[in-house]
Amino acid sequence: MLRLALSVTVVATMLSPLVVHAEEVVVYSARNEHLIKPLFDRYTQETGVAIRYITDKEGPLLQRLAAEGKRTPADMLITVDAGNLWHAAQSGVLAEIRSPVLEANVPANLRDPQGRWFGLSERARTIVYSTERVQPGELSSYEDLADPKWKGRLCLRTSKKVYNQSLVASLIARHGDDGAEQIVRGWVANLAAEPFSNDTKAMEAVAAGQCDVTIVNTYYFGRLEKDRPGIPLALFWPNQDGSGVHINVSGAGVTAHAKHPEAAQKLLEWLSSATAQGDFAGLNMEYPVNKAVAPDPIVAAWGTFKADDLNVNEAGRLQADAIRLMDRAGYR
Ligand code: FE
Repeated sequence: MLRLALSVTVVATMLSPLVVHAEEVVVYSARNEHLIKPLFDRYTQETGVAIRYITDKEGPLLQRLAAEGKRTPADMLITVDAGNLWHAAQSGVLAEIRSPVLEANVPANLRDPQGRWFGLSERARTIVYSTERVQPGELSSYEDLADPKWKGRLCLRTSKKVYNQSLVASLIARHGDDGAEQIVRGWVANLAAEPFSNDTKAMEAVAAGQCDVTIVNTYYFGRLEKDRPGIPLALFWPNQDGSGVHINVSGAGVTAHAKHPEAAQKLLEWLSSATAQGDFAGLNMEYPVNKAVAPDPIVAAWGTFKADDLNVNEAGRLQADAIRLMDRAGYR
């Protein structure tokens, strides 16, 4: 009730021509409204800075930003996956910023080396297995899922999804093109079904007995577990003796043609701060990038793991190679 009352006040304030805000920030967000609005409301309450935002899919938002050019009202872009952030940076819509606050709060491997975007939540793309048909001891790595022992037992999400493009990009970074292609060919040979349109469907196929293992972002596992308590699935952290679990980010940057660049940078710094990180990650069952902040208790209960320390920027740099490789390997 209190929350409703507050948001109404914010909207009224934003629309009233009589109230002049000292500052405002305009945000284009590919992150869903229910994940960002509670934070924006808090920021406005704490600082008096108004935040106007629109949400859309990452592709259309980036196109819009590019098409608007200098005339864009957007001060900040929030999107998911380093591949998308890399694309935004490449297309010139993000400004290079130097911020000791952001550099302290966001680990170097989770942000653009040139300061055009900064990770704000960390997501782990890991193995989920059937607790009825798989012993965790049988599992070891992403690479091992290419072994013939998993023939007819593997389900995967489509290669069209940027999450898998980033995962394969990380395999290219570790194993080179040929090595990565061997692995992906092995996955394809082991598939029990055509690739699924999303992570949840792939997990449901495992639960239903269509296959035994899949690869998903942990927050989808969290949502499914919440919807279907006791579902016979568990998370496995692969590559713990080697490269670590594949991670990615959602993140943000200040736009190249921001009308309120200082205000946008302050908001970005706040989103990376200990005050905001618990909610920014926790609302989506992700991991805070700011290591001073503990994950949400549900997330923490999944245990700790060694994460891949590869700069997530590589996922973007190698994305086109990853797409071509998956195509060659017959991964649809
Ligand atoms: Fe997602």
